[in-house]
Amino acid sequence: MKNMDRPDSLEVYHHGQGVSTGVAYGPAYLITPDALRVPRREISPDEVEIELARLHDALAATRADIERVRTALQRADKSDEAAIFDSHLLILEDEALLESVRDRIRHDRVNVEHAFSSLVLEAVDRIEKSENSYLRERVRDIRDVEHRVIRFLLGQREPAVGDLLQNALLVAHDLPATLTAELDRDRILGFATELGSPNSHTAILARSLEIPAVVDLGPVLQRLSHGELVVLDGREGLLIQNPSPDTLAEYERIKAKIERKRAEWVSLAGVPGRTADGEPLTFLANIEFNREVDAALAFGCDGIGLYRTEYLFLQGGGDVSEEEQLEVYGGIVRRMEGRPVTIRTLDLGGDKLLSGMEPEDNPFLGWRAVRYCLDRPEVFLGQMRAILRAGAHGNVAMMIPMITAMEEVDAVFDVLESARQSLRSEGLSHAERCPVGALVETPGAALMAKSLAERFDFLSLGTNDLIQYALAVDRGNRRVAHLYQPFHPAVLKLVREVVDAADAAGKQVTVCGEMGSNSRAAALLLGLGVRSFSMVAARIPRIKQVLGRVSLPEAQEIAAEALEQIDSDSVKAIIENRFGERFHRAPSA
Ligand code: PEP
Ligand code: MG
Repeated sequence: MKNMDRPDSLEVYHHGQGVSTGVAYGPAYLITPDALRVPRREISPDEVEIELARLHDALAATRADIERVRTALQRADKSDEAAIFDSHLLILEDEALLESVRDRIRHDRVNVEHAFSSLVLEAVDRIEKSENSYLRERVRDIRDVEHRVIRFLLGQREPAVGDLLQNALLVAHDLPATLTAELDRDRILGFATELGSPNSHTAILARSLEIPAVVDLGPVLQRLSHGELVVLDGREGLLIQNPSPDTLAEYERIKAKIERKRAEWVSLAGVPGRTADGEPLTFLANIEFNREVDAALAFGCDGIGLYRTEYLFLQGGGDVSEEEQLEVYGGIVRRMEGRPVTIRTLDLGGDKLLSGMEPEDNPFLGWRAVRYCLDRPEVFLGQMRAILRAGAHGNVAMMIPMITAMEEVDAVFDVLESARQSLRSEGLSHAERCPVGALVETPGAALMAKSLAERFDFLSLGTNDLIQYALAVDRGNRRVAHLYQPFHPAVLKLVREVVDAADAAGKQVTVCGEMGSNSRAAALLLGLGVRSFSMVAARIPRIKQVLGRVSLPEAQEIAAEALEQIDSDSVKAIIENRFGERFHRAPSA
C-alpha cells in the first residue's frame, strides 16, 4: 500500500535510538492501540448464533476472572479494593447494554468484539458528556471491564500478533514485553517504537533474538501506512519510509556485511575466555526462548546463566503445566550437554503481565517476581518441581529473582523442600543437587549480600534492575533514560559489595544484566572482581575478545580509581583513557 500524499521518489528518514543492531526491510505492520484491540468483521447470518455464544462464554469467563481477583483481595484483607470488583460485576451484568450488543450482532451483522466495544464506547461518550460526576468516575471501571471481555474474546492474545504479516517490521507506540513475548521470531524482521528505551525488556529481547530495533522515534505511526515498505536500521537508529531502489540496494549490501561479520564472530567461538594475563573467565548466555539455544552454542557460551522462564508463561497465556515446563526445560538442558543451565523462576509483574493480572500504579515496585510466586504457591511449586526434574537430564541451577527480604528466603526454601519431598514420594527422577541462587537486583539485596551469600549457593547480579532501583530511574522510560547510568559510582559500590560478599563466603557471582555486555563496563566489572559474565549470546565473542586484551592488575587499578569518582562521566573518561584505543581494534586483530 502506498502513501498517496507523498511523491514516489521522496524518502523520509525518522530518527530514533538504535537498541539492537542489524538492518532489515519489509512491510510495516502498524500496531495502533485500537487496531490491536478490536477487529471489525462482517458476519454471515449463519454466524449470528456463533457470535452470541461467544458473547455468552466471554461474559462467563470474565465474571470468573473478576471473582477470582475479588476473592484474592478479600483474603488479603483488602476489602476496599475488592469492592471495586463488585462494581465491575455490576457493569458486566448490565442487561440493557448486553441486549444492545446482541441486537447489534443480529441486525448489523458484525462480530461480537466490535459490537461490544462500539456500544461501550458510545455509552462512555454519553457518560463523559453527562453532568453526573458519579457516573463519570465510573468510566475507568467500564473501560476496564470492556478490556477484560475483549481480551477473552480474542483468546487472550492480541489480534495483531495472530494475523501478523509474514516478514513484517513491527511499528508500535510502545511494545510491552507481554506483547513481544508472543511474537514469532520467524515472522518479525524488527521492532520500531515511538516510545521505549535501551534497557526495557523488549529491547533486550530484540538483542537476544538478533533482530534490529529502533525506539524513541516520536510520532511516526500516523505518518505510516499499514503494509508500506520501510527500512529499519538498528545501528543508526533509523526508520526509512519509502526507500529508493538505491537505498534498498545499499541496505542489501549492509545486510550481507553484517552476516559476514556474524560468521566471523561465530568462528571465534572456540577461543577460551581469559584475560591478557591468563585469568580464566566464564561466558554464559541469557535466553528467553528455547530456540535461542542454538545461537548461544554457536557463539561459544559456556552455559546458560539466565533463562527468563516468564516468556514461556506469557506465550502460553499463563497456564503452563509442570509437564509442559519439564519438556521445555529438559530440552534445553539436554541440548546444553552437561554445561550449566541456570533457570530463573518466574519474573512476572513489572512490565511482564499475564492477562488477568491487575495493572498497578507502580508495577516495578509491586507484585513482581518472587513476590508473585510466593502468593501463588501452586504455580511456584509446579515450576520448582519442573526445574528439579529437568535437573535429572543435566546440570541445572535455579535462580530466584527480586529477593529483598530474609522472610522470602525462608519461604522460598520451604516451597523448595515441599517440591523435593513430593518428587521423592512420587518416585519421580530429579536432581539430587540443584544449586539455588539469588538474583541480586535491588540495593537492599546488594547491601544484604553477605547474608544472602550464606543462604544461597551462588549470587547473580541483575544490573538492569539494580541500576533502575539504585538510581530511581524507570528502565523503560525514555524521558529519564539519560539518567540510567551503569557507570554511576553508586552502582559500582553496590556491585563491589556483592562481589566481596560472595568472595568472602566462597560463592560464585555472575553478572547477568546488560552491563556485562558493554565492553567498557565489562572491563570495569572485571576489575571489581567479576569472573563470570552472562549476556545476550551474540555479544559473547566480542566481550571475550576485549577482556582478552586487559590484564587483571590494570582492570583492578581502573576499578579502584572508578570507585573514587563522584559521577559517571569521570568513570567513563578513566576507562576511555586506558582502554579506548585497545577496544577499537578490528574483530580479528
Ligand atoms: C536484571 O535485572 O539485570 C536481570 C537480569 O533481569 P531482567 O532484565 O530480566 O529484569
Ligand atoms: Mg531483573
